[in-house]
Amino acid sequence: MRASQIPLFSTRDRNFLFSDEQHWQLMLENIPAAIAVLDNELCYVAVTQRWVEDYQLQEVDILGKCHYEMFPDIPQRWKDIHSNCLKGNVDSCKEDPFPREDGGTVWISWVIQPWYLSDMTVGGIIMFTEVITAQKELEQFNSELERRVEERTNELMLAKERAEAANRAKSDFLSHMSHELRTPLNAILGYAELMESDPNTLLNEDQAENIDEILRAGRHLFSLIEEILDLSSIEAGKLSIETDGVSLNRLVSESLSMVGERARRCGIELHNDIKIDPTIMLRTDERRLRQILMNLLTNAIKYNKDNGSVCLNARLLDKQYIRLMVSDTGQGIPQTDLELIFHPFERSIQKHSQIEGSGIGLPLCQKLAEAMGCTMGVRSELDKGSEFWIDVPVLTD
Ligand code: ADP
Repeated sequence: MRASQIPLFSTRDRNFLFSDEQHWQLMLENIPAAIAVLDNELCYVAVTQRWVEDYQLQEVDILGKCHYEMFPDIPQRWKDIHSNCLKGNVDSCKEDPFPREDGGTVWISWVIQPWYLSDMTVGGIIMFTEVITAQKELEQFNSELERRVEERTNELMLAKERAEAANRAKSDFLSHMSHELRTPLNAILGYAELMESDPNTLLNEDQAENIDEILRAGRHLFSLIEEILDLSSIEAGKLSIETDGVSLNRLVSESLSMVGERARRCGIELHNDIKIDPTIMLRTDERRLRQILMNLLTNAIKYNKDNGSVCLNARLLDKQYIRLMVSDTGQGIPQTDLELIFHPFERSIQKHSQIEGSGIGLPLCQKLAEAMGCTMGVRSELDKGSEFWIDVPVLTD
């Protein structure tokens, strides 16, 4: 059934069927829709209050006046629609621009249809209109907003792509350069080690010291190159992590013994304070976790005080994670530097100018930790010391 076929009033109550003008007036004042009834000369027969308000006709007595007299600028296409309707045709439009006197545009949605006299000839037309300017403006605003968001998103994506390309180029460059540097450096270290250990080469004290210096600086450069290579391969997403069951006990004792000689040389005491179950197994990449621990232990020794100490401790956070902690009795790190030291090539404000370092170790550790699903942290107190930690997953069966 079409909407127009559904009866909207009862013919039984003849008393109400607009038998008097009051009822008509009541309806026309209160119907919340703009409706105008025109005769076949297009003169107003009846209008709703809403029509009067929508078209600002409050000051005019429009009944009996011609529609074109009210709207002299009405476009020809609308006149055509009216005369078409007077011939018995129904027409409608969902959104139509209506020129306003002030030069603006009112958007309306309308339906126009003929009404019939008792002899079934067309008595005139009825127009139903709804002003949809606000809705239209909202739609235009929304589509403008969408266009701008899309434009901005494209710009951001382009900027992101450019930044990623620049980053890839940087990582490639670092990786190539590091490889190129490693080969001659290996030769330098190889020849220096040969001269140091060859019983046929007799070195005087000065020469021996110089060779020591070459070896020390060369090894430092070598570890720097290795760290840069690691960092660039992480950034290029080329780092592979090999997770396995790792004995906490073995990892800790091996790491401590690897830095033992260095600690002795610096007069630093090393303590293994781990009191939790030594048989615990970690779920991690053994080589990378050892690399992190070695860096933390080396720093704890490097940035310590005379006769200071370094402790390696561990505690179970919950059944899934263990916190490994490296604490020292060094000069500490200012609170303002605690974030900075995890950025490549940044060192603490105190600069430790006399202590050898490049500021790559901690950023590398943090990136390795992230890649392994671990978290790192630090707390420090000036003149008392620092504590660096890493939370590592426990191997559960
Ligand atoms: P490097 O030691 O080669 O400079 P790192 O990235 O390992 O590089 O450390 C960054 C900086 O953090 C160091 O230069 C130092 O200023 C500070 N730092 C790291 N560990 C400690 C520590 N245990 N005590 C005091 N400062 C530290």
